[in-house]
Amino acid sequence: MTRRVVLGALGSMVSLGALSEASREPPETLSVRIWLSERAATYEGVTDRIREYLAAIRSLEHWTVDLSFGGTVAVSTENAARLMTRGEWPKAVVAGGLGRRDLEPVADVNLLVTDGRMGEAPTGYGVPHIASVGGARHIADLEPFDASLIDGTRWIVPNTAPTRTMQVLVHEIGHALGLDHEHGVAIRDGEAVIATPMLSSYAWDPSYRADRARCGSAMPPMSDGLEKRLSFAFSACARRELATYDGGLFSDAVGTDRDPIATG
Ligand SMILES: [Zn+2]
Repeated sequence: MTRRVVLGALGSMVSLGALSEASREPPETLSVRIWLSERAATYEGVTDRIREYLAAIRSLEHWTVDLSFGGTVAVSTENAARLMTRGEWPKAVVAGGLGRRDLEPVADVNLLVTDGRMGEAPTGYGVPHIASVGGARHIADLEPFDASLIDGTRWIVPNTAPTRTMQVLVHEIGHALGLDHEHGVAIRDGEAVIATPMLSSYAWDPSYRADRARCGSAMPPMSDGLEKRLSFAFSACARRELATYDGGLFSDAVGTDRDPIATG
């Protein structure tokens, strides 16, 4: 499945330039809005956990994050990647932006969380400004956030279904802000290999080849004896890239220099 398929759904967005009031000045506040599928909304604590964890992540980053929840959305499938590649969620966001649907998108990140399974990739999908991820039941299972989870600027947790799901959620937000897998790194730390959000489980996928070492670090070899751990903090390289982010969904950047194909 290519991003070209998604672009078909996004094509109409180019004409939204006229709605733009966004400036090309780098925004200091990132607007992130999260919706839940109707099934995702049946699990208790999903929005609380997302709010707690993302609030802590924002303190590690360059930006102030304006996080809001958009409510529930009726969807045809809980498969988050399919909702993107078939255009259902991008079309809903665009329709909302045009006032044709009761859904109010924000400029930077419009993320739909579903009850999709997380055991088989792809478990989510993100293009500039629009993303979807499954795993609501695992997010509901997360421990309530505790500041002791953050060890300095590194925020490292064991690799469990709930933590992995929250990391994939952060990963898709990264895609929505223009980051790619090459902005992720894996770090060998004693008997563990730690993967940052944009690399995520690719760090231990033998079929994954980082053909562009944009962040300049080779992946440490993974072997059976090593523990897999996850970091919720973007790599320094990803943060440098985020610092160049300069436009929202309804700015004239869409369809010009931030072409979803080119950044994919
Ligand atoms: Zn990805």
